[in-house]
Amino acid sequence: MAVHDSLADVLSRARARPLALSRAERARLLSLESPGDVKAVFDAAYALKTRLCGRQVAMRALLEVGNVCAKDCRYCGIRRSNAKAVRYRLGADDIVRLAEDAAEQGYSSLVIQSGEVEGESQTRLVEEVLRRIASLGLGVTLSLGEQAEDVYRRWRDAGATRYLLRIETSNPALYGRLHPADHSWERRVECLRALRRCDYQVGTGVMCGLPGQTVGDLADDIGFFADMDVDMIGMGPFIPHPDTPLADEPMDPEKRLLLGLKMIAVTRLHLHDVNIAAATALQALAPDGRERGVLAGANVMMPNVTDAEHRRLYQLYANKPCLNESSSLCRGCLSRRLEAIGEEPLFARRGDSLHYRRRKGALEEGE
Ligand code: SAM
Ligand code: SF4
Repeated sequence: MAVHDSLADVLSRARARPLALSRAERARLLSLESPGDVKAVFDAAYALKTRLCGRQVAMRALLEVGNVCAKDCRYCGIRRSNAKAVRYRLGADDIVRLAEDAAEQGYSSLVIQSGEVEGESQTRLVEEVLRRIASLGLGVTLSLGEQAEDVYRRWRDAGATRYLLRIETSNPALYGRLHPADHSWERRVECLRALRRCDYQVGTGVMCGLPGQTVGDLADDIGFFADMDVDMIGMGPFIPHPDTPLADEPMDPEKRLLLGLKMIAVTRLHLHDVNIAAATALQALAPDGRERGVLAGANVMMPNVTDAEHRRLYQLYANKPCLNESSSLCRGCLSRRLEAIGEEPLFARRGDSLHYRRRKGALEEGE
């Protein structure tokens, strides 16, 4: 165990090969506070991201297709018992139209996200959308919550290639405190396994800064990502929403942003070749939050292409950015922000995770 190695030694070992950090070292890196040390961690993670993915960021069009949700996660603004949320669900024609707009804007990759709805009519609607947009040649990521394995398989057969299902926290006891008794951490893990069996590129992730969460929990979260051998990570800071039971949780935006950035950096340093998204929640805490996510090791961004009317209704947390912007404005604004830090926004490629390509044998060692 190398807890006493110098920071430079730990970072150089982490950059040299994947899975090189012990739990104690991950916790140590996440706990660093001196600006010089934190910058050294971000710089090492960014250098690794640049080596593996180039100075490019894969852009995915994010489509929030409905805020109706059967779940009651205590942190989420669209939880089923928030009576103040005005609900919507887009129909197949609307979703297809937005997907076509995204393709016209040059996107090659789309994320379809919503609250959790189970049942045959939802399954059929998603199948119909996937079949109708197949000719657009888009890579499609779904983020539609927990479903039966058979449903995941039907959506995979209809053309979806990736699925994002955050575990939220790898600590089952903390998960239990953040969710009502009818939610199950074990089922979420089983869903991740089912997605893998259905041959998706599988993404998971957590929120950082949850009430009662420790740095040890976050170090374990990164261990969980490694154990589950996932291809993509989507994680971001927890931000309280005023109409939820966690509304009054104390918030220091800069501290929470820094924790979110450290999680990106340490995850990159430990896992190396996964896709890591710079989540929108980073930008809710600072205008340049998402670019800072890239400079800490993220390689994916998801500009919102939902129309402004519905974007306003899909509020998971307070202070959601870009509420009144059109999709082309979001695309242009994020592109300019990336170019300002010397990164090229990549619209023309689907941006499959290197990890997925490697585990499918489509990549040579060292590529
Ligand atoms: N319903 C699906 C699910 O839960 O997997 C997909 C959509 S859900 C809104 C997407 C993610 O939003 C969740 O996995 C959660 O991590 C995040 N989220 C919800 N409430 C949040 C909050 N208050 N702050 C930050 N992220 C939040
Ligand atoms: Fe529903 Fe997802 Fe929000 Fe939980 S996080 S209440 S499942 S939308």
